[in-house]
Amino acid sequence: MQKLAEYVTMKEKLLGKTLTELQQIAAQEGLPAFAAKQIAQWLYQKHVTEIDAMTNLSKTARAALSERYEVGRTAPVEVFTSKDGTRKYLFPTDVPGKYIETVMIPEYEDGSEGGIARATVCVSSQIGCKMGCRFCMTGRGGFHGHLSAAEILSQFLGLEEADLLTNAVFMGMGEPLDNWSEVSRALEVITADWGFAWSPKRVTVSTIGVLPNLRHFLDESRCHLAVSLHNPFPKEREALMPVQKAWPLQDVLALIRQYDFSGQRRVSFEYTMFDGMNDTPRYADALARLLRGIPCRINLIRFHAIPDSPFRTSSPEAIAAFQARLQKAGITTTLRASRGEDILAACGLLAGRGLKKPETK
Ligand code: SF4
Repeated sequence: MQKLAEYVTMKEKLLGKTLTELQQIAAQEGLPAFAAKQIAQWLYQKHVTEIDAMTNLSKTARAALSERYEVGRTAPVEVFTSKDGTRKYLFPTDVPGKYIETVMIPEYEDGSEGGIARATVCVSSQIGCKMGCRFCMTGRGGFHGHLSAAEILSQFLGLEEADLLTNAVFMGMGEPLDNWSEVSRALEVITADWGFAWSPKRVTVSTIGVLPNLRHFLDESRCHLAVSLHNPFPKEREALMPVQKAWPLQDVLALIRQYDFSGQRRVSFEYTMFDGMNDTPRYADALARLLRGIPCRINLIRFHAIPDSPFRTSSPEAIAAFQARLQKAGITTTLRASRGEDILAACGLLAGRGLKKPETK
């Protein structure tokens, strides 16, 4: 009995399947070839949550599909709203008792709260992270598994603002290029005509530099790239980010130099400002030297203090001077606005636990 019950609930998810995979499913189920495109439309454009709602498939076809498949969308269990309008959603995952966070960052028309002009979703790609960056709450919690493409796409479709989203950044929990097979599948769905049909210019994937999959990303996708840099000196970067040992930044930059970022596709470098550790003119000059010749932008990020951490954020004066020095060296440098700090939704603070203890599944 137990075995039968498990079998009945373990249906495969349709969400996250590419058109090619849906064509294979249609063929296996004896559906006409055009049914694959219809299913893709229902999943990715009409946002259904049940196979039974796919009303242009015959009743028999829906029944056949439902035997082995489900839509597979995950709904959030909690949402927190910041005083600046940023919202943090808590999603359950396929790993019992483990949650991930997704952040929706709105920008309002005329700077007022009249209407959302632009809404960016900051997506998680893993349950926790194994990269162990010293300044990151997610890294501290350890690694508990990869998210499936269905779980990644649910972070778009499950938001109350799903229809308002204009941009996506893969900068939430986890290292996207450490889960390339599922992230690439999600990127395909997001940017394909049969999927969300977003321009790749609306999507940015952020990495600390997982070299083998960075090459795959650069070859197979046209989405923007963001690289977490944080320190231009190898030894110091390694003390902050253990990944430096496996895949040195020099090698990452050498790879990036082989691709064209002077046109539609952009590369940016994330640089979190730590008081007295990486925020003096010496660091700005080294950074400018390191990136010479790469058409790029640097995003400076104020460090958001995490408990029991030796790191402090740089002073506003140090940040302004750093920014001015890089600008003078010819590198477009912006200071990323802190959003959602009061709900622990800002950069480096995501930990998959919300503000109060979520109910367990
Ligand atoms: Fe992982 Fe990114 Fe945090 Fe590093 S900064 S531990 S890669 S989530």
